[in-house]
Amino acid sequence: MIRRSRLKLGIGVSLIAIFVMISISLPSDDQGQPSSPTPEWSYDGETGPEYWDEIEHLGSACGGEHQSPINIIECFTENVKETVLNFEINYAPYTKIHDVLNNGHTIQYSFERGDFVIYNNERFDLLQMHFHEPAEHTVNGIRYPLELHMVHQGKHDNFLVLSIMAQEGLSSEPFQFLESYLPLQPQEKKVVHAGYDLNQNLPDILDYFLYAGSLTTPPCTESVEWIVFKHPITVSHEQVAALKVLMPTNNYRLKQDLNDRTVTLHVIE
Ligand SMILES: [Zn+2]
Repeated sequence: MIRRSRLKLGIGVSLIAIFVMISISLPSDDQGQPSSPTPEWSYDGETGPEYWDEIEHLGSACGGEHQSPINIIECFTENVKETVLNFEINYAPYTKIHDVLNNGHTIQYSFERGDFVIYNNERFDLLQMHFHEPAEHTVNGIRYPLELHMVHQGKHDNFLVLSIMAQEGLSSEPFQFLESYLPLQPQEKKVVHAGYDLNQNLPDILDYFLYAGSLTTPPCTESVEWIVFKHPITVSHEQVAALKVLMPTNNYRLKQDLNDRTVTLHVIE
């Protein structure tokens, strides 16, 4: 990746540097933590994705070699046939959402602890889910209108994210429930303390792409197993629009170079 010269940012970065010196740095959406009241990164302008690796306190990981999202090119993936999933989704029939927050970057639902995924004999606890409009990952160059990230955390500051694409079509019952707590103003949080069957968020066919990447928001930590479901779920145009209006325009990071990584496609037979 070609790094831009700091000089190009000029006074803008100096001001950002001064700002961050006097502000408290809080981690990103993808870690399930609250953001600072005034975002020190954004999806636009001098604090936008192409400059994240230059904003020092965010960490240099954003300029790393194993970043996310990526464009998945199916004919370049290695195919793996499975009779059962090689990871285990343990979502209760009635998973409780603790709260929903508009953190200025996305709409994020945080879960009460208890649900988890087992991958490679390691437990990853479900923390939160949030949305990108349009999608961050592209498949064969196609960008879906919406991508849902279900973020799970392991024991060693490592993560597993289930990525679910959504296309426009029939309305989704789970989305109807989720969106009944909207709208929310930036930085507004609502206690939900109600639950629903998270399994309803998953596509009918569970074929998935697997690769090692990063958080797609600062600090862009490179210890994330990405499970990107190949088949989209369906949500209505109105359901996409209800989220879109509450999030920054185009709250996605552009595709990152694959470099030496391999993407596998797991087909469930
Ligand atoms: Zn995300």
